[in-house]
Amino acid sequence: MTVRTRFAPSPTGLLHIGNARAALFNYLFTKHHGGKFLLRIEDTDRERSTQHAVDIILEGLSWLGLTPDEAPIYQSTRIKRHQDIALHLLKTGKAYKCFCTPEQLADMRANAQAEGKPPRYNGYWRDRDPSEANPNSPYTIRIKAPREGSTTIHDLVQGKVTVNNSELDDMIILRADGTPTYQHAVVCDDHDMNITHVIRGDDHLTNSFRQLVIYRAAGWEPPSFAHLPLIHGPDGAKLSKRHGASSVVDFKEEGYLPEALCNYLLRLGWGHGDDEILNREEQIKLFDLDGVGRSPSRMDYTKLAYINGYWLRQADNVRLVNEVIHRISQQDSIVFNEEMKTRLSVLMPALKERAKNLKELAENSKFLFSSVPLSFTEKAQKLLTEENRALLRKLSEKIIALPEFSKEAIDTLLRQFAEQEQIKLGKIAQPLRAAVTGSTISPGIDDTLVALGKDEVLKRLGAAING
Ligand code: GLU
Repeated sequence: MTVRTRFAPSPTGLLHIGNARAALFNYLFTKHHGGKFLLRIEDTDRERSTQHAVDIILEGLSWLGLTPDEAPIYQSTRIKRHQDIALHLLKTGKAYKCFCTPEQLADMRANAQAEGKPPRYNGYWRDRDPSEANPNSPYTIRIKAPREGSTTIHDLVQGKVTVNNSELDDMIILRADGTPTYQHAVVCDDHDMNITHVIRGDDHLTNSFRQLVIYRAAGWEPPSFAHLPLIHGPDGAKLSKRHGASSVVDFKEEGYLPEALCNYLLRLGWGHGDDEILNREEQIKLFDLDGVGRSPSRMDYTKLAYINGYWLRQADNVRLVNEVIHRISQQDSIVFNEEMKTRLSVLMPALKERAKNLKELAENSKFLFSSVPLSFTEKAQKLLTEENRALLRKLSEKIIALPEFSKEAIDTLLRQFAEQEQIKLGKIAQPLRAAVTGSTISPGIDDTLVALGKDEVLKRLGAAING
């Protein structure tokens, strides 16, 4: 059997991180078993579905590296097939026409509730002859759910779950306007797409029991199910925007790397010993559903930041340079020339050691592109005292005389200068940093000066000394 899974988002909003994790688990499970991972856009709710939301899903998956193996299926294009199947179930006596009006259904629910029963459809038209209805009355098509016995799902995450069939009512599969219901469309599509494993959030567990009714009525082999626990916020409540980033777009904007987010989402609720850091290849090799826990996971932003820092340090410098340029150009009206790109490339190995995410990385890089006079932070300004400016003036004379502007040459110069002046290295390094960066935080001063280049360093020093 070739494993075939699908990610089936509804394009009605942002790609929530819980959905992204479902996509990741589907993907890893499939690749682990050498199967095919598919995407189905569940866009039958025409009012709430938008092309913008579809684009967010497609871009989000591509950013996370979870590319489907076949072209996406749009559920809305399959309505005719859903209708045909419903009519077939009607013809074979597995489903029936229900002529109840909305008022009758409301009464039915109210009566059931008054008797202390769940508000379900009571099967009024199940065995009734349709000729009893006015032939012009609108009707829905309802599936005949089993009334006796029970249904058990051997869920690959939740274990054995049993429900009494008396709890399932004859649900509608085709509405009076001819549109399929969600439950019906999902079953038809999963069947036609030859899905072998349905892996989704555990908020769909009760749907699976209802969907099994349709599988049985159609005489189709149901897939295996795996219902993943939801992701909660650090406080245990359902994860939402008020906890921080909660959709894939948010995480991207906050400067997380996709490989870090995937690594973190995998570790959230799935374990392989104490291994925190796993690359995609290792993830595929090790992942299986039996390692997924049953209880909800709590989002831990601190751990995510740690994992992100790790992947940032591993990331290719050219990629990070492009990311930073992209970010800064979006926010500020800076036009990057080759010299600015070179500065950033030279300092990137040092910059990435100090940032937790791309946002910070971009922020920490900005000084490289400033022009004189720099704007100084309060702390930096405080360092530029008369006394320190006099020191910096002396130092800049020595810098001018340096035959080679290398890291080693700068190190030696600063050490010698501190010795001559009988001050600690920091006493010259800090004012120097303030003068050339405008702040008190930057990578090592030697790396920073090399990245700026001699001319720029002298220009900035000159402006700070005279400013
Ligand atoms: N479209 C459903 C959702 O976004 C998922 C359905 C499924 O995975 O079966 O929640």
